[in-house]
Amino acid sequence: MTPILRRRLALALAFAAVAPLALPAPAEEKIAVLLIDGQNNHNWKQTTPVLQSMLLKSGRFTVDVLTSPPAKSPKEAWDAFKPDFSKYGVVVSNYNGDPWPEATNQALEKYMAGGGGLVISHAANNAFTGWAEWNKMIALGWRNAQFGDRLTVDDAGKLVRTPKGEGPGAGHGKQHAYECVVRDPGHPVMKGMPAKWTHAKDELYHGQRGPGESVHVLVSAFSDKSTGGTGAHELMVFTVTYGKGRVFVNLLGHDGSSVGAPENAAITCRGTEWAATEKVTLPPEPPK
Ligand code: ZN
Repeated sequence: MTPILRRRLALALAFAAVAPLALPAPAEEKIAVLLIDGQNNHNWKQTTPVLQSMLLKSGRFTVDVLTSPPAKSPKEAWDAFKPDFSKYGVVVSNYNGDPWPEATNQALEKYMAGGGGLVISHAANNAFTGWAEWNKMIALGWRNAQFGDRLTVDDAGKLVRTPKGEGPGAGHGKQHAYECVVRDPGHPVMKGMPAKWTHAKDELYHGQRGPGESVHVLVSAFSDKSTGGTGAHELMVFTVTYGKGRVFVNLLGHDGSSVGAPENAAITCRGTEWAATEKVTLPPEPPK
């Protein structure tokens, strides 16, 4: 072998060694998720790892978990709670607890108004009753009937608004497995999902209240009076537009098993991707 050929062969072998055929997506092409927990009237220590694991398994995200100071912490403990939201493609809230510092609230408002993404997981919509901009972001929260309007859908899927003070406030009947009905099969998050599915045993939130503006319904569930419900189709999964930002609200997922239920895992990952980019590339199946 001539020296030139030998050199070419050595180069080819070296290249082959560093260039495997299938490369996972480089970290910089993944969507950076900030998952916030630390206080909740739910078992966040159980549900955060389920959320984190499904997002990572999808291959589409990196996930930083930010755990807040515990309940009733002194102001000094909260001074360090200053997430740089601008570093993230999307913020996932698994938080329901003490108010955040005003500067942190304002930073989230700015991030969202400028085109950020926010995902609300179940009881995260119970938080921050007194934060007006948050109530706009989540559209409907766990509040009493005097707090604001209520939204449901009729049998045909048309949005029905009940004024504040009329009808039930926030609650849920007894936990049971119930049917989830897709109300917009053409939405990127729902494309390819079954038209309806039986969700795991879970709470079926009803009577959620708030400004209820810029809401787009993706999934409803019928709240049967026989299980302590309202006799109406309640909103389970919907989007909200806030400024240039996108909010994906998912009221399913009281505990680890309902968060991790197959269809819920699929729409949680897809909804997170959609909140970050307005597009969905992930398949309509749970990540494996
Ligand atoms: Zn719950």
